[in-house]
Amino acid sequence: MHFELNETQTLIQQTARDFSQRRILPEAAKIDREGRFPAELIKELAELGLMGVNVPEALGGAQAGPIAYVLAMMEVARACASTAVTMSVSNMVAEIITRFGTDQQRSKYVPKLCSGEFQAGSFALSEAGAGSDPGGLRTTARRDGDSWILNGEKTWITSGDRAGVLVVWARTGSPETHAGTKGISCFLVEPGTPGFSVGKHEDKMGIRGSTTVSLLFDECRVPASALLGEENRGFRIAMVALDGGRLGIASQSIGIATAALEETVAYVKERKQFGHPIADFQAIQWQLADSRTELDAARMLTLRAAWLKENNQPFSAEASMAKVFASETAVRVCNRCVQMHGGYGFTRDYAVERHLRDCRVTTIYEGTSEVQRMVISRAALA
Ligand SMILES: Cc1cc2nc3c(=O)[nH]c(=O)nc-3n(C[C@H](O)[C@H](O)[C@H](O)COP(=O)(O)OP(=O)(O)OC[C@H]3O[C@@H](n4cnc5c(N)ncnc54)[C@H](O)[C@@H]3O)c2cc1C
Repeated sequence: MHFELNETQTLIQQTARDFSQRRILPEAAKIDREGRFPAELIKELAELGLMGVNVPEALGGAQAGPIAYVLAMMEVARACASTAVTMSVSNMVAEIITRFGTDQQRSKYVPKLCSGEFQAGSFALSEAGAGSDPGGLRTTARRDGDSWILNGEKTWITSGDRAGVLVVWARTGSPETHAGTKGISCFLVEPGTPGFSVGKHEDKMGIRGSTTVSLLFDECRVPASALLGEENRGFRIAMVALDGGRLGIASQSIGIATAALEETVAYVKERKQFGHPIADFQAIQWQLADSRTELDAARMLTLRAAWLKENNQPFSAEASMAKVFASETAVRVCNRCVQMHGGYGFTRDYAVERHLRDCRVTTIYEGTSEVQRMVISRAALA
């Protein structure tokens, strides 16, 4: 067993770190305050190869593998959680089109996602009535000659108003023969397609620079060639994508909490009460010790799951373990960091306030903590 990174992983980590600290971090508070989508930063991330870290070079990616990807995500999230989630979902979309797409679909979309020609890719699974249970989705697609016609509404879609391509799940099977998850297919939809429009923009607690919108499909006609994978076999694509996506969100959680902890270490050395820096008090030291330990454990779980993926081994339960542990750790750590800042931590003058708001969603999206525990317990009981 060895813990060293290889040359490519070190290079990607260093590149992501340098860029994030130099270019993203100075923008992060403004992005949050203005709720501004970081379009220019995404373009620059793409130029560094970070919008297709685990995508083959032949399709414009960096071909650096899942471990390099999680390392890069941690660095970007350490600077700006909004930029990181945009990067995470776009990387996921590029990976699934690479894996499940035809040659034509791959060459049409993946290079544009990787190069930043597209500002983002979107993953449109959730609906108002189908969140934790996406198998209950109600958007439909019916075959009409050489086309599919989509009807329905998606909610909570990250970058849905910015994406150059959206992966959309819809029900195609008849309830008699293809009920539940067995009757769902996956489609690649382009913005501007007649019958497709963007609805409500969510006004969120955190990751305010990332857009979250609903999508409306009203007799939206896409060509037969827009089907990704096989008819009625699309649910599996979503599950495979989410396994990888959860590594992205685990890494995002770790990045946010790492930033909060670093800022808190600096603060407790400066802040004096009772004639001492508060770092001298054991109550503070133990919060730092617990936070560091838990964050390191989260990092190990995430790297282990990424290693399994990199080595083509099953990693679904391990990705869920990493996601549930890293996200819950991030919420705990950021909460402690606000506490260690006292009243100042409750103001916008210190970034820990943003970190706590930004990390809160990590236990919810790409499967809530409860859903991760369902995945893990299913593996435990198998
Ligand atoms: C900012 C943001 C961005 C998002 N981006 C995307 C995106 O890009 N694409 C996309 O498809 N979706 C996206 N989502 C949706 C997200 O994945 C869902 O919000 C999430 O899966 C939970 O679904 P829900 O909100 O409907 O909650 P519900 O499923 O209604 O859950 C409510 C509560 O009940 C619990 N619960 C539900 N079922 C069970 C059960 N069987 N056992 C125990 N507890 C249970 C849940 O854990 C949760 O605590 C995003 C969400 C947010 C907030």
